[in-house]
Amino acid sequence: MAFELRATPVPEPEASGYRFAFYEDTLLVEINNGNLSIPTTESLQQYDKLPEVSIYLGRLDAIPCFAGGIKTSSFPDDKYKLIGLRQLFGQIDDELFWLAARAYHLANWDRNTQFCGRCGSKTELKDNEHSKLCPSCNFAMYPKISPAIIVAITKENKLLLAKNALNKSNFYSVLAGFVEPGETLEECVAREVMEEAGIEVKNVKYFGSQPWPFPDSLMVGFTAEYASGELVIDKNELIDAGWYTADELPPIPGKMSVAWKLINWFVNNHKNA
Ligand SMILES: [Zn+2]
Repeated sequence: MAFELRATPVPEPEASGYRFAFYEDTLLVEINNGNLSIPTTESLQQYDKLPEVSIYLGRLDAIPCFAGGIKTSSFPDDKYKLIGLRQLFGQIDDELFWLAARAYHLANWDRNTQFCGRCGSKTELKDNEHSKLCPSCNFAMYPKISPAIIVAITKENKLLLAKNALNKSNFYSVLAGFVEPGETLEECVAREVMEEAGIEVKNVKYFGSQPWPFPDSLMVGFTAEYASGELVIDKNELIDAGWYTADELPPIPGKMSVAWKLINWFVNNHKNA
């Protein structure tokens, strides 16, 4: 599979292609012989269910891809199903999953920017870039991306893992937090770790990044080493935290997350340590 972002020329809105159609927070998928796929223009047109607004994403193996919202959750044919994006991971090809995630981010942005935030007029989608323009006051709106840091902190052969107060599942993960205006990513790492766990870190190194469209984040991963301080958790953010060796990890997040990749990095580097 080869995805080409926003290749030009932009096809006509009715063009043949894949339609990543969202009903609120769920994606419409087509099921054929038990396999999930993304519906095509033709398959949705037969039910008159093409999204009213379609945002052009680019081409997947030369086939145009569009994202948009649909207003109905009912289909006369049970080969269509609405599915939460996170549930989709592992059920379709990874590249297609991340394309659906990109589509979800843009479809959400479209849903949330129907009107100008400055003057309240109806906005217009531009067709030469992912942006909207207010026809009354010329205010330009771009898809909102909220950067967040996520950091694996090691202390000798142990990794700091914590259970988040807001997370309903039982897993423990590495620390994470949103970047504040005016802050560098490195400053954010230091602040978040101090606020949430009361410790100082050193040797902060970039690990990798991943879009996280739930609803609009970009997770920027780091590794770091414990420098000083006593572990004291912020009870508003965390329920529990502790240092774990690679062979005694608590339940951890799933493979689609940067958290899993960071924890997996730790395990691979600290096996039998
Ligand atoms: Zn305006």
